[in-house]
Amino acid sequence: MTRITPDGPAAAPAPAILEAAHERLRQLGARVTQPRLCILACLIGSDEALTHQAVIDRLPEQGETIDRVTVYRVLDWLVEQGVAQKRAGNDRVFRFSLVEHEAARAQEHRQHSHFHCTRCDRTFCLDDASAPAQPAAPRVPSGFAIEHVELTVNGVCAECGKRTPAAH
Ligand SMILES: [Zn+2]
Ligand SMILES: [Zn+2]
Repeated sequence: MTRITPDGPAAAPAPAILEAAHERLRQLGARVTQPRLCILACLIGSDEALTHQAVIDRLPEQGETIDRVTVYRVLDWLVEQGVAQKRAGNDRVFRFSLVEHEAARAQEHRQHSHFHCTRCDRTFCLDDASAPAQPAAPRVPSGFAIEHVELTVNGVCAECGKRTPAAH
């Protein structure tokens, strides 16, 4: 079978993603503008949270260029609309992601345990095999219902341990 590929700019976001972005803006009752469409499509198409710069780098080069100020403004607007989430990383740089992607990631992190380094404040995912099958749930007051129990081990990661040996 021969696939017929429509001609057009190769670097442009996939039509399905643009369509999803379009639909999302329509649901908001918002005006559909080219910058909103392109920037939202960037977030929909990305598995990870993006910095302002990462969004700018991913914008298609064809057509009208979207200036930096517009990128900043549209990202903040998407956060105001509840479509995107804005969070500062350990490097204190803001990153933006689609709220649904963030929820899916949170769900995924619930499936395994974590190691939190108290020196660099980074959190590492531990694979299932290294975690106890089901961490014991603490007793909760009556009327409270447990939905899930997360295990976070606090300590010092290998990198920090090498840099500054433990005091004791
Ligand atoms: Zn995790
Ligand atoms: Zn560390």
